Amino acid sequence: MEKRAALIWFRNDLRLHDNEVFLEASSKSSFIIPVFCFDPRYYAKNQYDFLNTNAIRAAFQLETVKALKEKLLSLGSDLMIYIGHPEDIIPRIAQKYQVDEVYHHREVAYRETSISERVETELWKSKINLKHIIGHTLYHKEDLPFPVRDIPNSFAIFKKKIERESFVRSVAAYPNNFMTPPHLEKTSLPTLEDLGYSPEETARVKNKFITGGEDLALEMMQTVLNDPRGSEHDYTLLSPFIALGSLSPIRLYHEIKKLENGKKNKRFDKLIDMLLWRDYFRFMLKKYPNVFFKEKGFKKEHIMSKNDQLLFDKWRFGETENDFVNQSMLLLQKTGYLPYFARIIVSSYLVQEYNINWLKGAYWFEQNIFDYTPASNYGNWSHIAGVGTSERENAPIDWQKLIQTHYPQGIQVPDEFLSQIN
Ligand SMILES: Cc1cc2nc3c(=O)[nH]c(=O)nc-3n(C[C@H](O)[C@H](O)[C@H](O)COP(=O)(O)OP(=O)(O)OC[C@H]3O[C@@H](n4cnc5c(N)ncnc54)[C@H](O)[C@@H]3O)c2cc1C
Repeated sequence: MEKRAALIWFRNDLRLHDNEVFLEASSKSSFIIPVFCFDPRYYAKNQYDFLNTNAIRAAFQLETVKALKEKLLSLGSDLMIYIGHPEDIIPRIAQKYQVDEVYHHREVAYRETSISERVETELWKSKINLKHIIGHTLYHKEDLPFPVRDIPNSFAIFKKKIERESFVRSVAAYPNNFMTPPHLEKTSLPTLEDLGYSPEETARVKNKFITGGEDLALEMMQTVLNDPRGSEHDYTLLSPFIALGSLSPIRLYHEIKKLENGKKNKRFDKLIDMLLWRDYFRFMLKKYPNVFFKEKGFKKEHIMSKNDQLLFDKWRFGETENDFVNQSMLLLQKTGYLPYFARIIVSSYLVQEYNINWLKGAYWFEQNIFDYTPASNYGNWSHIAGVGTSERENAPIDWQKLIQTHYPQGIQVPDEFLSQIN
């Protein structure tokens, strides 16, 4: 093979298992150069003056990047880590090491795609190609039984067709035969302060035990899937790992199938349904770019909502007329954790009881939720607000009934999560 070098731009795919980008880059090139950028835009404030990422989630991301760097170092490679805009950093490193191509996983939400467009433009000035690898989802876009423009908007039809007419690819092989040039720039992991967090925000996180990385993700996957107490109402707590890509949904799927061993298992069926919801929102963003980031969502006409800061503050700081909502909002702010039905309850409360612009609630989640992903967060919120792409899911939800059914004893934080975050 002609000696070629590839730069691997890690983003939300912080793992080596089932990583098509890594596999493709390392199989086509003699040398690979892994790079991760802490992009200041992700730690800045948005138009509502909320942070795009709070210090707890940033600490989890730091731990995940650290784990990947340690893993690559143990394999004789490295992960070069920078703070800055990828459109400045990636082309500089690519030129310095004379790489032939840059590889990354294609994203779907606006902020992410506009960043890769900038990187692509800058790279092209030196005639270096940015290779977009499709991944992230359980079902591969190329294996869908319809082109993106024809993906059914109804989740029920999407699920039915995809399960009947498509398949989940096998796990991409673990890369074990790759080389990294010696004498790469020496880089180290930044601190929360380096990312711009204030001493108060940093102090909030200091005594929490936050860990991350693919080894932990795979270990947690085994623990939850093999838990004999598991029922169909269970959670897995895997979403933060899936969100940063330290756990591949395909790997999770095949692990589930192995354990099912051909037998029907309600809990596992539900879990696969949930992974399909994740796919659905990502594919909808591909079909209708930006649809989840407008207040009117998928609707043609504008929706009327109030811009009442006092009401919004009551909601976000847990001072509403409902104890369950208050308990949940305080928990969210303190830990970043909120189980699925509690998310539905608090978001429905904001929309139905206070009639506040749902986007503001979604931005608040974006700051605080531990497993934040653009498509899943804004996609779920848009349904709660009645403006989502799957019509059936736009119906208003009886949030009071959900409290009675799912949380008769109030909200409880699973021990596994507490040990991770406390
Ligand atoms: C208003 C609102 C906002 C949300 N924001 C996010 C978000 O930012 N990131 C996120 O990953 N999930 C989000 N969800 C979906 C869901 O609440 C979380 O995925 C789930 O609570 C994570 O817990 P778990 O890992 O135990 O999930 P499990 O129930 O064990 O499900 C397994 C995996 O499937 C995926 N998943 C489960 N439910 C959904 C769903 N409804 N939509 C999309 N994917 C799903 C997740 O990757 C999850 O890890 C949101 C839901 C609502 C109602």
